[in-house]
Amino acid sequence: MHNNPEYLKQLPKRALKTIRMLAKGNGAEKDSIQIKQAGGEVLNCEAITHLELHHEIQSESKKGAHEIGQPLKSPDEITQAIEEASSSALKNDEVRRAMANILLERPDKGFSLHAEYFDIPALNRDYSYVEPCGTCHGEGQMICQRCGGKRREVCTQCHGRTMVPCKFCHGSGMMQSADGKQIQCNRCHGQRQVACPLCQKTGTVQCRQCKGSAKHECTQCGGAAFTTHIAHLIFKIKTLFEFDRTILPPPVVKVFEDAGHKMVSGKHIKLSAEQVKRNDGGLAIQYNAQFPYGDIEFTINGKPLRTHLFGYRGKMLKLPNFLEDLTQRAYQRLEEAAQGTGNTAGLIKKASNKRLIAQALTLSATAPPKQAVIALKKQYPMGISNQTIKELIKLSHKAIQNLTRKNRWSGLALAAGLIGTVNMVYFLPAVRGQLADLLPQENIILVLDLLLIPLGAFAAQFIVSKISTGPVKKALGPLLSDQQRAKFSPKNIAPLWQSALLGLMVFIASLALARYLDLSVPAWLPF
Ligand SMILES: [Zn+2]
Ligand SMILES: [Zn+2]
Ligand SMILES: [Zn+2]
Ligand SMILES: [Zn+2]
Repeated sequence: MHNNPEYLKQLPKRALKTIRMLAKGNGAEKDSIQIKQAGGEVLNCEAITHLELHHEIQSESKKGAHEIGQPLKSPDEITQAIEEASSSALKNDEVRRAMANILLERPDKGFSLHAEYFDIPALNRDYSYVEPCGTCHGEGQMICQRCGGKRREVCTQCHGRTMVPCKFCHGSGMMQSADGKQIQCNRCHGQRQVACPLCQKTGTVQCRQCKGSAKHECTQCGGAAFTTHIAHLIFKIKTLFEFDRTILPPPVVKVFEDAGHKMVSGKHIKLSAEQVKRNDGGLAIQYNAQFPYGDIEFTINGKPLRTHLFGYRGKMLKLPNFLEDLTQRAYQRLEEAAQGTGNTAGLIKKASNKRLIAQALTLSATAPPKQAVIALKKQYPMGISNQTIKELIKLSHKAIQNLTRKNRWSGLALAAGLIGTVNMVYFLPAVRGQLADLLPQENIILVLDLLLIPLGAFAAQFIVSKISTGPVKKALGPLLSDQQRAKFSPKNIAPLWQSALLGLMVFIASLALARYLDLSVPAWLPF
């Protein structure tokens, strides 16, 4: 159906529809845009993606003996197995099919993917080798070094002498009787020493390290006895895409290089692909790409607009930035509004009689600049440069700042009065004093005091935004839809730092006034 000439005739009409949609509200209405001429044919081209097999090895070690992947007997055997696996992989038909399928099963079939890597999980292998601990030779235990396996060691108190000096007479053998005479020690009976209480006169005690078991856990392997060395062999495909650049029109070469895969998955190109064996034994995927291509010329308000039609969905390549010409005067007015020297409201109103500018203003009044750029780009994906879109959002932001300057100042003043009043009420003894008494902990009231700052900042931000809504809504003109108008609420109009500063300043001023009036002030006040 895609080669049906009737279908191909639809392509210029599709492009016309796109141009009309972009131009709508931007100074060229439906009937002023027409196709002057369109021609083209279905082109064919061959292309190839070479698949190179790469591999890498990731090593790890685990305590203990484990059977992981293919168990082998030595590190050399692992090296050999990896060598064999990687050199034989490409010779195996199943492997070749698996490799090719990784690309062929993608929506783009790997077309135009140059110098990219793909995993081939089905090919990955693990090898392992179990090595006994060099210290315990795979026992996990070793003979106790302290007792040498004898289970007992020399008594630490008598050092094997079986007797210790008598503590009662300090080894003198004599003691003082009740009437002050020197008599024989009645503990050692004058022997000056007694039997060692620790070893019960045997001279040895149980080994303190092995607790009498003669062995202890190997200090090298911690009892694991073995270490398993694992090698993960990981295969990857590297792609090398080639096509004949000399026979294709330059805009097509560029689109193939930049986004060929998207052209396939987006069905702009009809692609047949098959796995082929190269003469040198390597693996490749051969493509035949088919796509309509031609030149088309529109007239917009009598002026020509030339571009190229590409693919089965009427995509335009190298479309000039015609929207910039159409909206040039409105753009200049926006620039003037951003400078802020003239009648900003009037200039914004005039500038926003072009949908492009009105959208830029609406977006920058309701979203942060980065988001606004993305949203505007989505509405105008072609016919205008990215640079201009960024510029538009920047100018819109400035223009809205100028437009709302007076309202923002009155908003800040109103907010200052309101926050100040709330703060003073809070510091009344009947409020803060009562609150402090009710609270279980003294610190909580300090937290409440400081909460007044962010609370004030948020209130200021809210009031300024609300007060600024009117002029922005009014100036944006008739291009705001009813729906947009209903939920329109400007953000980013009031700089947050201003509101934060206001909250802080009003807080400090309220504190000073409360102190002067002898109200309930925080104890931490330095004045
Ligand atoms: Zn060990
Ligand atoms: Zn021991
Ligand atoms: Zn002893
Ligand atoms: Zn004694």
